[in-house]
Amino acid sequence: MSIMVLNSGSSSLKFKIFEEGTLDEEAAGVIEQIGFPSATIRYRTQYLTTEYKNSIPDHETGLMEALSLLTDENSGLLKDISGITAVGHRVLHGGDRFTKSVLINNDVIEAIEECIPFGPLHNPANLLGIRACLDLLPGVPQAAVFDTAFHATVPVYANTFAIPYEYSKKYRIHKFGFHGTSHRYVALKAAEMTGRNDLKLISCHLGNGCSMAAVKGGVSMDTTMGLTPLDGLMMGTRSGSIDPSVLQLLCDREALNIDGVIRMLNNQSGLLGVSGVSGDFRHVMEASETGNMRARLALEMFSYRIRTTIGTYSAVLGGVDAIAFTGGIGENSCVCRSEVLSGLEYLGIELDKEANEKNIGGQRFINSGDSKVSVMVIPANEELMIAMDTDELTRDLTTKR
Ligand code: AMP
Repeated sequence: MSIMVLNSGSSSLKFKIFEEGTLDEEAAGVIEQIGFPSATIRYRTQYLTTEYKNSIPDHETGLMEALSLLTDENSGLLKDISGITAVGHRVLHGGDRFTKSVLINNDVIEAIEECIPFGPLHNPANLLGIRACLDLLPGVPQAAVFDTAFHATVPVYANTFAIPYEYSKKYRIHKFGFHGTSHRYVALKAAEMTGRNDLKLISCHLGNGCSMAAVKGGVSMDTTMGLTPLDGLMMGTRSGSIDPSVLQLLCDREALNIDGVIRMLNNQSGLLGVSGVSGDFRHVMEASETGNMRARLALEMFSYRIRTTIGTYSAVLGGVDAIAFTGGIGENSCVCRSEVLSGLEYLGIELDKEANEKNIGGQRFINSGDSKVSVMVIPANEELMIAMDTDELTRDLTTKR
């Protein structure tokens, strides 16, 4: 019996299968370029790894493809689809309504629809995945796990924008924060690794999207992303926080409208915009190593924002016991970690150079023995967190097959 976790994007469907109870990962797959003439399907289990192309016109066909892979006799996994007893969905935006994961019913679907204005790219795609499951796995309980939910605890003084208050209320404008499932997983693991439930933790999720969270005793006290995932740190192609007057100037001088500038801040900015090379951290590093000054500047800006946010969040938490790095960059780039932490010795942070540079994978400490602050690398595993929530929410359901 297995739990399926789905992360449904506008043209992609990622799926993972976890054994019920043990939550061991049994299979993982991704279908990309759904709706294009030819989609790419990658799939792996303990016994096989495969990649091929096929026509996948929509998400429902994508889910059908995933189910046929999971029940293929060569994959040795599920005899038939009745082996899937619950599905957990990653949902980007839960608005003010969802402060934790919930079982999906019509009311929840309507509420996710109502949040579309806050997550115009992701929520409709998440709903496509949910609807495909309703059609193809009828009667199987489904859970929604929201990227925003973990940050519902951020105090009002930290999540309110300093605009006329009536607009904040009228349009429900405030900082929601994202990557919540990742920060929650990191907080859980950091507590396990240190054996402490009262940690003052700064969690750094550094991937294509980047965000940080100040977490006290497992509770989010502040985070860098805002109303949308455009706010906060500099990212692969996103600018992060910016003086809004820049928008006005660009609209005037470049004859753009506000939508055009927002698109620019989302897709052509960040590492890509500054370096002019790429939004991919590795490519920017390579360019910097060959003397590209814009690439060097982009990397310096990238770590500067993270470093200054560590300072800010130390103030938020009244000190810091642990700093954790996750995401493609956070997990893999020892250079990024050491640049981010350089100059923070005054906070009692000391890296162990060798441990930082040893890329052995898995969760690990990389601070020196003398460091007052634990520094750790914790590989992201949002899917496991979604499976855990789904398992908990569906464990006692009589409707479960
Ligand atoms: P994610 O969104 O978590 O998959 O992370 C993607 C980012 O991680 C990209 O910018 C990659 O360049 C970066 N990344 C992945 N592997 C490495 C690595 N070994 N060293 C540096 N950056 C990496």
